[in-house]
Amino acid sequence: VIQLGMPSRTVVTTCAYCGVGCSFKAEVQGSGDDTRVVRMVPWKDGGANEGHSCVKGRFAYGYASHRDRQLSPMARDSIDDEWQVVTWEEAITRVAEGFLALREKHGVGSIGGISSSRCTNEEVYVVQKMVRAAFGNNNIDTCARVCHSPTGYGLNHAFGTSAGTQDFASVEQADVMLVIGANPTDAHPVFASRMKKRLRAGAKAIVADPRRIDLVRSPHVEAALHLPVRPGTNVAFVNAMCHVIVTEGLWDEPFVRERCEDADAYLAFIAGPEHSPEATQDVTGIPASDLRAAARLFAAGPNSAIYYGLGVTEHSQGSTMVMGMANLAMLTGNLGREGVGVNPLRGQNNVQGSCDMGSFPHELPGYRHVSRPEVREIYESLWGVTLQAEPGLRIPNMFDSAIGGSFRGLYVQGEDIAQSDPNTSHVEAALRAMDLVVVHDLFLNETARFAHVFLPGASFLEKDGTFTNAERRINRVRPVMPSRVGKDEWQVVCEIATAMGYPMSYAEASHIMDEIAATTPTFAGVSFARLDAEGSMQWPVTQAAPHGTPTMHVGSFVRGLGQLTETVYVPTTERANRRFPLVLTTGRILSQYNVGAQTRRTPNSTWHPEDVLEIHPSDAELRGVTSGDVVELSSRVGTTRLTALVSDRMPAGVVYTTFHHPVTGANVVTTENSDWATNCPEYKVTAVQVEVVTQA
Ligand code: SF4
Repeated sequence: VIQLGMPSRTVVTTCAYCGVGCSFKAEVQGSGDDTRVVRMVPWKDGGANEGHSCVKGRFAYGYASHRDRQLSPMARDSIDDEWQVVTWEEAITRVAEGFLALREKHGVGSIGGISSSRCTNEEVYVVQKMVRAAFGNNNIDTCARVCHSPTGYGLNHAFGTSAGTQDFASVEQADVMLVIGANPTDAHPVFASRMKKRLRAGAKAIVADPRRIDLVRSPHVEAALHLPVRPGTNVAFVNAMCHVIVTEGLWDEPFVRERCEDADAYLAFIAGPEHSPEATQDVTGIPASDLRAAARLFAAGPNSAIYYGLGVTEHSQGSTMVMGMANLAMLTGNLGREGVGVNPLRGQNNVQGSCDMGSFPHELPGYRHVSRPEVREIYESLWGVTLQAEPGLRIPNMFDSAIGGSFRGLYVQGEDIAQSDPNTSHVEAALRAMDLVVVHDLFLNETARFAHVFLPGASFLEKDGTFTNAERRINRVRPVMPSRVGKDEWQVVCEIATAMGYPMSYAEASHIMDEIAATTPTFAGVSFARLDAEGSMQWPVTQAAPHGTPTMHVGSFVRGLGQLTETVYVPTTERANRRFPLVLTTGRILSQYNVGAQTRRTPNSTWHPEDVLEIHPSDAELRGVTSGDVVELSSRVGTTRLTALVSDRMPAGVVYTTFHHPVTGANVVTTENSDWATNCPEYKVTAVQVEVVTQA
């Protein structure tokens, strides 16, 4: 029920859902603990949304006051015990003493932390600082590990920085859009509207996705060329695109010669006959004539832009594919101006920011490797500690080490790893094996079933800070109401570090941003005062670009020359076989968000009350499946049950589901396979079988 009334005041803040980063004017009644949001009005001056919004940002904020919110710290000695409410002081003492004891007994590498892409930049920064300065190691990772870590790796390799190249407004200059492994209408709705507006104005779309997503079916994008790429074959696909462009002489020779490195080796590689559309069509499933048409269209531009999502990154070759798309953009000279570029559509509200803030185990803030002494020195002198030069554990390494007995204690903030990470039984075994699991969250989520201490978190309506969206735009998050748990999350983290013997404190969140700006070159000109004055800014914000940088790599790349890379296609080991003859791929729908912890506690839950399994009519008929049947979905690692939906959106041989609900748990069946460079899980390819359990 949406209750309307006259607001007594308004606060401009940022949506806590997807990476579009829409600004809203929260209309508020009451004060103190009685503060109530009347409605969220999309903010007309929002840099990313210009007054538009979707059903999540506009209506799905009620989780912040949901009765499931846990507002008190809790603790227990064993995960088999009942939770006991404790004071903040007791909770923080238990956490600090627990981590110190584990470090003492099992070594400095036995503890670590996971930061959240839903939290503010300031919160993420203090978590990585706590791990590095108080825990004494680099065992800090972020939930970006399981989504866009290949983006960070691949774009840094090709261009020298781990971020998208353009701003959203750039799409208004695009003549051709290659949309690959992304479903913007569901996952990034406000930006999808901007894309559709441009398509209505005559731009062309090439949609590479196994499913006939909405962008293909929308009447106003009839011109879209749909290429149903088989899951797991993206690299073969992009190589074939580049092969056509090179062998048909469609490449931008002046751009490549002037701005790229290793051009001759790459050109010889990609011209090889094994990359031709004819040679690869049986692999990718794309008829050679369609692929040639797509390559010619993209090369003709004149402005051609690439937009991609997790259908690119969540593969065993996710990082290779990001480099492959960088190759395509460089080959065709589509970088360094409006309307072009390689543009990741980031999933979570602050996944860009959580990566920027140094929450990877190998990088300090600003994507600077921990092995660089001159970078460590900046933080060592400011923080008064000696930092480790060796990268720490990634999330999957933490799980493996926990099962092996060497990793014993984990702090996890705003992330439900027991639901969101692949191969649930493996994750649960790892959590069970740890001596101390600390969950810092709004709700007693699935991970909290394995926790010893629960620290209540604050919702976005209670936070002061910043989120950074997919176009590197730093948006202000302003408190609409006081923290319902009595403390800010960054304050709790500082208190844990202090109780561990490393004093850490800030008077207010803006001081954390001041420290970020003082130590991170790309944030040099950022402060809350400047953001409040300018509305938002896109990093890098430097002396040379005092108001930010909408378009990157103008004239030269951050790394100097762009890196063309020989992207060798290596098939995934996860293949359909006699026992598991179908391939499962996963994704999201419009009304829900990721593990659903937020949206399931709002009116949006009525629009998608359960995850369903989409299956092609021929695969359904073969198995006697009709829509509404309960089916068993099984892979080599697990089995779950879902309701079937027979759909011609699917290609034959591929099934699809979402992962918004814990009961059905798509990640019960996804496997341990991951990207070779970053360990991002291969969520998009799981060999499965489907069998009817109960007929509708
Ligand atoms: Fe929020 Fe994304 Fe919807 Fe904008 S498009 S309102 S950021 S969920």
